[in-house]
Amino acid sequence: MDLTKPDAIQHRINAIVDRVERLKERGLYFYNMPASELRGGARVVFNGREMGMYASYGYLGLLGHPRINEAALRAVEKYGTGTHGVRMLAGTLDLHCELEATIAAFKKTESAVTYSSGYVTNLATVSSLVGRHDYVFCDKLNHASIVDGCLLSGARFIRFRHNDVAHLDELLMKADPDVARLVVVDAVFSMDGDVINLPDLVRVCREHNAWLMVDEAHSLGVLGETGRGIEEHFGLGDVVDIKMGTLSKTIPSVGGYVAGKRDLVQFLKHASRGFIFSAALPPAQAAAAMESFKVILDEPGRVQTLRSNGRLFIDGLKARGFDTMLTETAIVPVLCGADEVAFAMTQMAQKEDIFVLPVVSPAVPEGLARLRATVTAAHEPEDIEQAMDVIERAGKAIGLI
Ligand code: PMP
Repeated sequence: MDLTKPDAIQHRINAIVDRVERLKERGLYFYNMPASELRGGARVVFNGREMGMYASYGYLGLLGHPRINEAALRAVEKYGTGTHGVRMLAGTLDLHCELEATIAAFKKTESAVTYSSGYVTNLATVSSLVGRHDYVFCDKLNHASIVDGCLLSGARFIRFRHNDVAHLDELLMKADPDVARLVVVDAVFSMDGDVINLPDLVRVCREHNAWLMVDEAHSLGVLGETGRGIEEHFGLGDVVDIKMGTLSKTIPSVGGYVAGKRDLVQFLKHASRGFIFSAALPPAQAAAAMESFKVILDEPGRVQTLRSNGRLFIDGLKARGFDTMLTETAIVPVLCGADEVAFAMTQMAQKEDIFVLPVVSPAVPEGLARLRATVTAAHEPEDIEQAMDVIERAGKAIGLI
């Protein structure tokens, strides 16, 4: 395909549409499926069939929590359903300020700012903090929203080997010492479930005078004794300069945040375009998010349950002969290799009412296709055992184990 021709746009469209159609014809298209019910996060209904849900990011099982629903309903009654404005110009409610104060307190730092999604948060934050001539260093497996933020910034974009702080150290050593440098990583990697080596990373960033930004999309509520995230996990204090997270995973709402020093937040509220030029979070979502942080602290058993469920799932799959890569968290990859194997595994698991999804190239490197299964605090241990039995039967039938 020649993508320099005038019809390159149509070629590009055809390439994707054809791939989707071919998969649909073979019954191997599993994406964008409309669920008719999300039953608390552990179960889901598709086409009238209830299935065990192993593809949700609702790590603490907070979806539908009565206190959170109630907070959202109260906000609708008080404010209506939208704010008709960007935050700077008439879009800010007292609710947004309370939510931001709640996030800052949860993350044990001075201040926080919220955005309309996690994706926008990364785009807006990275692209406003660094620009042309600066450096931004990224782990090779960072989430797409971080990569897009780096590209948008125009900064020199340098990637280091996955979770390899020695490699980052080498690259920082070679960088012009008179130029600003920002290091950005995921706390828990979204396709692999492994945890960034934060203590070494902090040391290297300090040695090289680099700012550190950590995306906590999959560690908020997951890591640390009370679910506060990566710093608590490693028993470190306030060591991450830019603490980014989303309100759409553990927190059953939508939106994203950055928490950190007061001046950083003040800067973002006046310089990041994703904040200045995009509408505020709707009242119901802001209120739901705020109540969720309170529930996490009031019901600490959820974090412990998630941890034991995660352990059960990882150990059980390994004992059955699967390769779960380096995960230590609630994201559990089941390595399949070829895309076709991941599709076949998914098809068989779904036939037995276990909802898992395949992740294939280009989302992961070719040859490393996998089921990306997740477990939550809402699952019962016997459900997890049953799901693993289904995955085992599929693996044996396909010859993966
Ligand atoms: N960062 C990471 C690591 C993610 O996994 C995601 C969501 N997949 C995002 C950011 C984007 O967050 P949101 O879905 O809230 O836009």
